[in-house]
Amino acid sequence: MGLGKINRISLDDSSITTPVIWLGHDLFQSIKVWNHLDYCPGLMLNAYNFYQKPRVTEKAKNIGIKKMLNFKGNIFLDSGGFLFQRTGKSKVDVNDLLILYKELVPEFAAILDIPLSPLATNTSNYRRWTKTIQNTRYMFESNSLLNLIPILHTYNKNLVQKRLEQIRQINPALKILGVGSLVPLFMNSFIGDKFSIYKKKVSPKLGRWDFISDLMLAIKKNNSDLILHAFGAGSLSTIYLLSMLGVDSFDSTSWRTKAAFGEIILPGSTNRNVSKIVSLTRYRRKLDDNELELLSNCGCPFCSEKNMRNRLSTLQKFAVARATHNAYVFISEIENLRKAINMKRHYQFVADRLKKSEFFTRILNEIIIPKLQ
Ligand SMILES: [Zn+2]
Repeated sequence: MGLGKINRISLDDSSITTPVIWLGHDLFQSIKVWNHLDYCPGLMLNAYNFYQKPRVTEKAKNIGIKKMLNFKGNIFLDSGGFLFQRTGKSKVDVNDLLILYKELVPEFAAILDIPLSPLATNTSNYRRWTKTIQNTRYMFESNSLLNLIPILHTYNKNLVQKRLEQIRQINPALKILGVGSLVPLFMNSFIGDKFSIYKKKVSPKLGRWDFISDLMLAIKKNNSDLILHAFGAGSLSTIYLLSMLGVDSFDSTSWRTKAAFGEIILPGSTNRNVSKIVSLTRYRRKLDDNELELLSNCGCPFCSEKNMRNRLSTLQKFAVARATHNAYVFISEIENLRKAINMKRHYQFVADRLKKSEFFTRILNEIIIPKLQ
């Protein structure tokens, strides 16, 4: 059970194997975790970040982003459209963005999309989609070099096929599709009564996942070969669940935002919260036996070859150690997910990782699994 599969995406001089994680990096951040890691498949950068840092942008244009960052993996450049989710307006000009993309030549570049808001009216959300599809057409027609990633947005599963058709008209060779507007649903943010139709069947919190599941399955229907990237997946728990629904590619910044708050992530040690957090500096909560064992098994560069006391004090003292540890956990968990899919143990792996969280276990067993049968 589970729709996860292994895909190979061929690029000019490299390839990507899915499931894949793109670590969200902010150009204002001084910590560069890939300098400490043996393996880091991809970074997701934000075009808006480049507008904020003109000098860095000049350097990136001159010597290349990878050389500037001393990074050897793949780069996925996001448009920054999501930064304007609430207003529904983009401050970025589509042509300027395309020029920037062409100068920075990332492996993948997202279309300038205008994400929907669960709090906006249907009319406003329709206007946003219309703008996104206009941008999609413009960017595909003005470009032949870049790997542009079109992005589907809808809060209505019945519109999926129509919107996919609109994208395919522009890009008949569609292989990789982004899915957007999901961040407010992944987060526990207030989203009004947008999904009230789902509340009749299940509780509101589960209702969001009822919709997310329907959406992904509607996309996958008749399109099982399409490689899906879910924008802004965030936590590992969300990633595990999305993988069950056939999502292949994920990006997250939570590994570094958690690290900045003094938190480390341990695989499968979910409580009822969104992610598997053990706060070391803020609460100085003691790790339980299971968490200690998970930490003792960590092979990240800051944990390995240290006794438990030194591990804990290193993680407590240094933000770079926490960020690297968390990034390592994300990357190695995606590797473990891939192995589980390969061994046809996708469901077992995900169920095991979520077993400490009653909420995520319910999403898996009460919402997702019945839809897959
Ligand atoms: Zn570690």
